[in-house]
Amino acid sequence: MSQVRVRFAPSPTGFFHIGSARTALFNWLYARHTGGVFILRIEDTDKERNSEAFLNLIYDSLSWLGLNWDEGPKIGASGGGDFGPYRQSERGAIYKEYVGKLLAAGRAYEKDGAIWFKLFGERYEIFDEHRKKTVMKVKLPPVVIEDQIRGRVERLEDEDFVIVRSDGNPVFHLVNVIDDIAMQVTHVIRGEDHLSNTSKHVLLYEGFGVKPPIFAHIPLILKQNGPGKMSKRDQGALIEEYQKRGYLPEALVNFLCLLGWNPGDDREKMPIADIIRLFDLPGVNQSNARFDDKKLAHVNMAYLLELPAEKFIAQAREFFARQSESPVTLAAAAATAEYFAEVMRLSQPKIKGFEELPAYTSYFFTDEFSVDAKVREKVMAKGDPKARLAELIKVAQAADFSSEAVLTEALKKLAESKGLGFGDYQGVARLAVTGTNVGPNITGIFYVLGRERVRSRLEKFLATV
Ligand code: GLU
Repeated sequence: MSQVRVRFAPSPTGFFHIGSARTALFNWLYARHTGGVFILRIEDTDKERNSEAFLNLIYDSLSWLGLNWDEGPKIGASGGGDFGPYRQSERGAIYKEYVGKLLAAGRAYEKDGAIWFKLFGERYEIFDEHRKKTVMKVKLPPVVIEDQIRGRVERLEDEDFVIVRSDGNPVFHLVNVIDDIAMQVTHVIRGEDHLSNTSKHVLLYEGFGVKPPIFAHIPLILKQNGPGKMSKRDQGALIEEYQKRGYLPEALVNFLCLLGWNPGDDREKMPIADIIRLFDLPGVNQSNARFDDKKLAHVNMAYLLELPAEKFIAQAREFFARQSESPVTLAAAAATAEYFAEVMRLSQPKIKGFEELPAYTSYFFTDEFSVDAKVREKVMAKGDPKARLAELIKVAQAADFSSEAVLTEALKKLAESKGLGFGDYQGVARLAVTGTNVGPNITGIFYVLGRERVRSRLEKFLATV
């Protein structure tokens, strides 16, 4: 078989959402799996709704996700590839030429100022109750689509349809098919919402005397909660949100692969090279995929754990710098590289995403952290927290703060000397020093904060009980 050529054909009429990203991704995966070509084509024929900002969002989002295109706009000076231009708004002359062919072959005709595609078959008139008028129907067997994902789909087409509006603008069906022919697209991989258009597309191919490409319609992404398709307005729908929230693009891509595809087992985190090797169209699920933000967070955490420390630190710095100013973000920005790195060393194994960092690390950067009232109540109700605090203060004054291990030893010794366990000190120490009951291990926190801050926080807290 000749080389696979697939395309992602977005319209720059809205925010770049998770459904578009997944369609782009499945095309990209298929191209990479087969050693084929991934084309980016911009379907910007809707002059009213197009915007340059949305167009740039497409470029930025694809680039951020690492879905590089082999042909399309923005490659080289002329737009890379031999089949350009790759923006429909620049392809008017090509559409005219193709419409000319249909007219010459008797497959199109003019009526009421528009150009219609003509179905070949026996014609008859009937009164359409719904539209309240007599319409011309054409007797044709159903159009058959052997979809790679959906299987065999049949649809009846029985009326001529407009391909160029009376204002001279060609319609979506026409330009979509012409471009797929002209760009020699071999596989059309797109959302299931386009399945209802495909029968018209197949007829147009026939009209042009060209064999249709292979179709693969990807099932929908369902809302996380409740019925129905995920919409652009749903939480978690927009790609730029993930970018802002500091998700790792590799993790998001991995998660998107699992929305409608799996490697044949329940593996989640997988190197993209493995996914490329295993990905195939018949492997795409027929059933709709449900969005799941917990799974995404889980995958993101797995990728964060694997990041080399320097990368984690650099990206965390960047993330903090992008946040709006608060006592925590200002203090984090002012922290020395060494101190910041120490805080991140403790945080990296613990967080699910960079967005958790400012709250998770606040007490490292400011003394003005809040104390969780519920946690306080719980911790203070157990044992003799006052006595424990006093003992901790003594140890903090005397202990060697030069390493986490030494501090752990000192605390263990303290507990032993009182016939208690490490746990009897941990809760109250954490509450006093961090205001909460979650976080990295307590001696790590002591070590990074340093003796003075630990002591003064313990003392300050003791004074309030
Ligand atoms: N411009 C269409 C869309 O945004 C593309 C349809 C297709 O992939 O054929 O959905």
